[in-house]
Amino acid sequence: MPLVEETSLLEDSSVTLPVVVIGNGPSGICLSYMLSGYRPYLSSEAIHPNAILHSKLEEGRHLSIVDQDLEYLSEGLEGRSSNPVAVLFDTLLHPDADFGYDYPSVLHWKLEQHHYIPHLVLGKGPPGGAWHNMEGSMLTISFGNWMELPGLKFKDWVSSKRRNLKGDRVMPEEIARYYKHYVKVMGLQKNFRENTYITSVSRLYRDQGEGDGQDRNISTQHLQIEKSKLIKRNWEIRGYQRVADGSHVPFCLFAENVALATGTLDSPAHLEIEGEDLPFVFHSMPEFGAAIGKGKLRGKADPVLIVGSGLTAADAVLCAYNNNIPVIHVFRRRVTDPSLIFKQLPKKLYPEYHKVYHMMCTQSYSVDSTLLSAYTSFPEHHVLSFKPDMKCILQSISGLKKIFKLSAAVVLIGSHPNLSFLKEQGCYLGHNSSQPITCKTNPVEIDAYTYECVKEANLFALGPLVGDNFVRFLKGGALGVTRCLATRQKKKHLFVERGGGDGIA
Ligand SMILES: Cc1cc2nc3c(=O)[nH]c(=O)nc-3n(C[C@H](O)[C@H](O)[C@H](O)COP(=O)(O)OP(=O)(O)OC[C@H]3O[C@@H](n4cnc5c(N)ncnc54)[C@H](O)[C@@H]3O)c2cc1C
Repeated sequence: MPLVEETSLLEDSSVTLPVVVIGNGPSGICLSYMLSGYRPYLSSEAIHPNAILHSKLEEGRHLSIVDQDLEYLSEGLEGRSSNPVAVLFDTLLHPDADFGYDYPSVLHWKLEQHHYIPHLVLGKGPPGGAWHNMEGSMLTISFGNWMELPGLKFKDWVSSKRRNLKGDRVMPEEIARYYKHYVKVMGLQKNFRENTYITSVSRLYRDQGEGDGQDRNISTQHLQIEKSKLIKRNWEIRGYQRVADGSHVPFCLFAENVALATGTLDSPAHLEIEGEDLPFVFHSMPEFGAAIGKGKLRGKADPVLIVGSGLTAADAVLCAYNNNIPVIHVFRRRVTDPSLIFKQLPKKLYPEYHKVYHMMCTQSYSVDSTLLSAYTSFPEHHVLSFKPDMKCILQSISGLKKIFKLSAAVVLIGSHPNLSFLKEQGCYLGHNSSQPITCKTNPVEIDAYTYECVKEANLFALGPLVGDNFVRFLKGGALGVTRCLATRQKKKHLFVERGGGDGIA
C-alpha cells in the first residue's frame, strides 16, 4: 500500500491513495485520527451506567471498539441521532449526557501505528471546517465538551489558555482553535492539505497495468483477474490549491475510497424571489458581520431586514441589536408554533436566545402601529421582492402587503450541502434521489454500520450529510468508516499474502 509522504504535495498523481477525505471539519479530523491508528478500548476502571452495554463491553474488553461488532454493541440504544453507531459512540464518550450527567468517557485511546491507513484530508480553509466561519460574539448551542474530539479534553485545553471558565457554552472561535491544535498535537498534520477546493470526483476505470508497477509482477493469471476486481474502480479527484500568491494550482489525485465530510453550510438557502441578488441582500452571518465591521450600517436610520426564525437569524438579530441597528424581523411561522427552536432551549442556559424570542412575541407589527425603534417582528409574513432602491415588499398570511426602505437585508433560512463535484450534484446518493441532499429531510443514504453510500461502493459519507448535525454524533461516522476500511484492508492483506505464497486465492 503506498504511503503518503509529508513532502508529497497534491501534484504526485501517480500514487493511488487508499483514502481521500473531502472536508476538514470535525468529521474529517475525527476520521483522520482513527485512520491514523488511534484505537479506543474500554478503560480498566470504567463502568458504563447502561448495565447491558457494559456487559457487552466486558466481553470484548481485549479488543478495541473498532474490532468489535458495532451492530451488537449498538442494539437497543436510544439517542438523538438516527444512526445507531453515532448513538453508540456518543454513549461511550458521554454516558447519559442527555440525562444531564457529565460522566467521563469509558474509553481510553491507544496509538497502534500498524493500523495506520494512508489518507489525505482536503479542505477549503484551516482544519476546523465551519467553525472558522461563525460569528465571533455568539456562544455555542452545545457545551464545550460535546464538541471535543477523542483523546483531548476540551476543558483541559481551554484551561491552559484562559483562567476564568465561565459557564459551559463557549465561543465558536475557541472551538475552531481547539480543532487546529488537535490536528497538530495528534500528529495528523502530514495528512492535511489546506486551501484545497475539490471540483470533481468521478469513477475511473483504470487499466490493470497502469500506474501501479507492483501489480505487473504477479504472474498467476487467476490472481490477476481476482485482483483486478479489487483495484479496478478507483476515484479520480480533481481540484485546485490556492497558494500563497493567490494563484490556483490544479491537481488530480487517485483514491480507492473517498469519504465525504463536507458539512452542509456551503450553499446558503435562498428565498428564490425577485431582487435577491442585489448587493444589499446578504445570505450569511460572516457577510453581515463584515458589513457591520466595515461600519457600512452604522448610523443608518433605515432598518436591517432579517429573514428566518432559527438560531442563526436570532444571532443576526442580537448582532444588529448590540450594534444599535434597527431590525425588521420577518418569519413565516406563528410565534406559538411548537416546533420553533426556542421552545426546545432551556431559558436558564440560553438567555440571549430567549431574549430574542421574547421580542419576537411581544414586539410584533400591527396595522395600526408604526415600526418600533429598535426591533419589530413580522410573524406569519414572507418577503415578496427586493427592489434596486433598497426597498422590500412584505406580505402577511392574509395577503396584506407593506413596503419598507432598508439599509440591508440578511436572509438566514438554512443552508444546503454543495456536492456539485459529484455527478448529478450528488442527488443520486440521497434517500430520495430526485431531490438535493439536505441534512434533515434528504440525507445521503448509507449503510447504518459502515457509512458506505448505499448507491455507490467505496464512497462514504459522515456528519451533517448523513443527518448528524451535532459534533457529538458525527464522531460515530468516523468509527463506522474506520471499522469498514480496517476490516477490508485486513481481508485484502490476507488475500494477497495467501495468493502470493502458494498461488491459491
Ligand atoms: C451558527 C452555527 C452554530 C452551531 N453550533 C453548534 C453547536 O453548538 N454544537 C454542535 O455540535 N454543532 C453546532 N453547529 C453545527 C456544526 O457546525 C457541525 O456539526 C459541524 O461543523 C459539522 O462538521 P463537519 O466536519 O461534518 O462539516 P463542516 O464543519 O461544515 O466542515 C466541512 C468542511 O468541508 C469543506 N468543503 C466543502 N466542500 C468542499 C470542497 N468542494 N472542497 C474542499 N473543501 C470543501 C467546507 O468548506 C468545510 O470547511 C453549528 C453550526 C452553525 C452554522
